[in-house]
Amino acid sequence: MTEQEDFVVQAPYQPTKEENKAIMELAVKGLMAKCWDSKKKYIKSFKKHLREDMYEKQNKLCAYCRIHVPLACVSMHREHIVYKDDHPQWMFLPENLCVACPTCNEFKGTTEVLNDPETTTYPETSTGFKIIHPMYDKYSEHIELVGDVLYRGKTDKGNFTINTCHLYRVDLAEERVDMKNYAENKGNIIAELIKLIRMPDTYVDDKEKFKEIVIEAVNAYKVKQGIVKG
Ligand SMILES: [Zn+2]
Repeated sequence: MTEQEDFVVQAPYQPTKEENKAIMELAVKGLMAKCWDSKKKYIKSFKKHLREDMYEKQNKLCAYCRIHVPLACVSMHREHIVYKDDHPQWMFLPENLCVACPTCNEFKGTTEVLNDPETTTYPETSTGFKIIHPMYDKYSEHIELVGDVLYRGKTDKGNFTINTCHLYRVDLAEERVDMKNYAENKGNIIAELIKLIRMPDTYVDDKEKFKEIVIEAVNAYKVKQGIVKG
């Protein structure tokens, strides 16, 4: 696991004065699930800023699988660590909010992650949570990546996170194989070109032509390196 992947977020998002005021206005009436979708200007601004801030603080990685999600393709989901419908009082609490990839977010769903579901104060340390908390836990203390590809729990919390977010899913292993291949062959022209060829069609308007050029370049490289005879 890289240092980047093993982040611990040092400070939650700090809402602006206006955002805090808007949250207070909702809170005095009693927070409920639908408040999250409030159309108030500063609630929307809170949600936007929160995602941007946490995306950077999490090194652009999902809180649970630690895979990079490019903003240009799909938005990272705003993730309530403690499920908001069961604990609406923490819906806007920055400590309870991070970003996660859509798949982890979906698998986690409504899972209870508190060790004491009856608690009325938000736990401020790792021991309060069954799941890895991006602000309180060091990922590598709970999960190891076997061969840089497979997720293995080292603690109950690691196992809980793996089972809750289905970190054993095949697409995640595939993604990690790709990352590993790329990392190991970086700078190698063939690996770079293979990566280019795998990019979605939208990158070039004539993919077949592009493929031909790449294959020619690879062959020329092989000849040059003496891998095959010209
Ligand atoms: Zn994820």
